[in-house]
Amino acid sequence: MNTTSDRKIVLITGASSGIGAATARRLGADGHHVVLGARRLDRLTTLADGIRAAGGRADHQELDVTDLESVRAFAGVAHERHGRVDVIVNNAGVMALSTLDARRVDEWNQMIDVNLRGTLHGIAAVLPLMKARGAGHIVNVASTSAHRVDPTAAVYCATKYAVWALSEGLRQESRDIRVSVVSPGFTRSELTDRGGDPEAQAAARAAAEQLAIPASAVADAIAYAIAQPDGVDANEVIIRPTAQG
Ligand code: NDP
Repeated sequence: MNTTSDRKIVLITGASSGIGAATARRLGADGHHVVLGARRLDRLTTLADGIRAAGGRADHQELDVTDLESVRAFAGVAHERHGRVDVIVNNAGVMALSTLDARRVDEWNQMIDVNLRGTLHGIAAVLPLMKARGAGHIVNVASTSAHRVDPTAAVYCATKYAVWALSEGLRQESRDIRVSVVSPGFTRSELTDRGGDPEAQAAARAAAEQLAIPASAVADAIAYAIAQPDGVDANEVIIRPTAQG
């Protein structure tokens, strides 16, 4: 458990399930104060109650990362309440798989809005606060899909390659703010449950059921990046099942 001086104020987007929820539990147990955001408020309430019942510190707030004002309010409330924001984990994401010729344009736009624009909104909301203090840490959850492209995942991969690229650009521009990209492979979560071509989603679900690592393994990688000393920037972690090709 961290001492008060080690305790960080950590915002987590997409904290209502999967990797975000596991990260909230892990960082809460490490003694950080976690601020949970997502659209499903009931899930956040239950999670925050659980973290507090285990002796941790947690606030939560409804958040839609596609809406800049919602993300600004999320960061702003935390900043007002705690006087600083030390870390944001830009984790919210959606994956709707289909071939491009299916032209599921609404789902393309949703992936761009949540995965890419949502990450940019997170950066826009915290960067001025962190710059003013000359310290902070931005952790962006990308994917092994930021490193390879597969059929039916072109748009999802495009958003994750973009998250990788903007993280690298941010790193190069920042001398006082740490930037980490954490790229998971198949991980147990709700990611394959929504949207996409049913056949493509079912194939991804079957692969995940066979191979996937627990969300807590990704949470551990995020906790590792956050735990480094201020002058040490763990820029990139790729974490995937040993058996993933
Ligand atoms: P889940 O579906 O379990 O979690 C996704 C989270 O994103 C949910 O909490 C959801 O909350 C949130 N979210 C979706 N849309 C929005 C929105 N508009 N505003 C705010 N929050 C939103 O999947 P994972 O835990 O797997 O996904 C977390 C991240 O990990 C994603 O970026 C994903 O791309 C990435 N990833 C996952 C992999 C895997 O195999 N699981 C592999 C590689 C990367 P709510 O619906 O309540 O808003």
